[in-house]
Amino acid sequence: MLTLYLAHILSYMHDRKKDFQTIIELIKSAKNIIITSHKSPDGDSLGSSLSLYRFIKKINTNVLVCHPDQSSSAFHWLVDIDSIQLFRENKELVRSTVEKSDLIFCLDYNSFDRLGSEMGEIVQNSMAKKVLIDHHQNPSIPAIVSISETSIASTSELIFELIEQSGLGELLDAEIAKYIYLGIMTDTGSFRFPSVSSRTHEIVSSLLKTGFQHAQIHEAIFDANSLDRLKLKSYAIVEKLEVLQELPVGIIFLENEELKRFNHQKGDTEGLVNTILSIENIMVAALFVETEEGVKISFRSKGSYFVNELASVYFNGGGHKYAAGGFSAESIFLTKERFKAIVLSGFYDSI
Ligand code: 5GP
Ligand code: MN
Repeated sequence: MLTLYLAHILSYMHDRKKDFQTIIELIKSAKNIIITSHKSPDGDSLGSSLSLYRFIKKINTNVLVCHPDQSSSAFHWLVDIDSIQLFRENKELVRSTVEKSDLIFCLDYNSFDRLGSEMGEIVQNSMAKKVLIDHHQNPSIPAIVSISETSIASTSELIFELIEQSGLGELLDAEIAKYIYLGIMTDTGSFRFPSVSSRTHEIVSSLLKTGFQHAQIHEAIFDANSLDRLKLKSYAIVEKLEVLQELPVGIIFLENEELKRFNHQKGDTEGLVNTILSIENIMVAALFVETEEGVKISFRSKGSYFVNELASVYFNGGGHKYAAGGFSAESIFLTKERFKAIVLSGFYDSI
């Protein structure tokens, strides 16, 4: 068993080495490089984007990070956060930058619509060569090099592999390491999800040797609640949490009026869906949050309950087996009722 596993890892490394070397050649010969990642960037999109950004700058090429929109304030302490160009705030600049680019990295997303329809179209129509580095299922991005590894816990781990396996490991400094650590830490739920492997820990071990303060990163992300945010989360749990009868499913839905009451800021409901999943015997958790554009839905699950299909088939979304998201243009009440009808009519009956 172990031999089989090692053989698998070794063949993966061997095949990938060439791809990583090709990526380095592409970086060296490109004139204008852009790094993109998905809407509502999370720790892994920021970690992979900014570690790659710092790394590319060391091999002396023009590089810019362009994201569709802003991240939550939990990430605003990152030293390079202001160097990210946001499409939502500066459409023309991002459009012309994409049009001038000859190499575009697509990090931590599997289809152009994850950039939002407008930015997605611009990137899709660009003549630049594309490099995909991602860990979501069913990639649909035509790329000259495609590193799509669904068994790897985070895209940031793949950025580490790129740096190390292309023979440029000596360029990995504490700033790059910090970003990779951020991405791994957030996408693995602080190193506890099933996707964490011995390789994940080997990578973290190499990162820590660069000498940054890992505890500070955890603290900056997870111990940075505003009073309003903590009260909103507490209210949601005390007043809005519902466990569906006879199903291991917990849900919370939050209306605009409730969000306003607690002075809601982007990112304030982050982690709430995991709190639902922390309830004993709850296997599927769903969080519905009303936004100006519609209802944003987050799903989490465990065991043999998967949520990616639920998100992609019924809620215009997708994601991983145990963490997925989606969107509904219906009212929050209709969305909730539709969700209930789907799971109550036997979506999980075969388990
Ligand atoms: P979150 O609940 O943190 O917003 O999202 C969890 C995971 O679900 C993300 O890492 C991403 O893989 C996926 N996801 C979230 N929203 C969407 C969406 O609208 N479309 C797709 N395809 N995936 C999503
Ligand atoms: Mn990710």
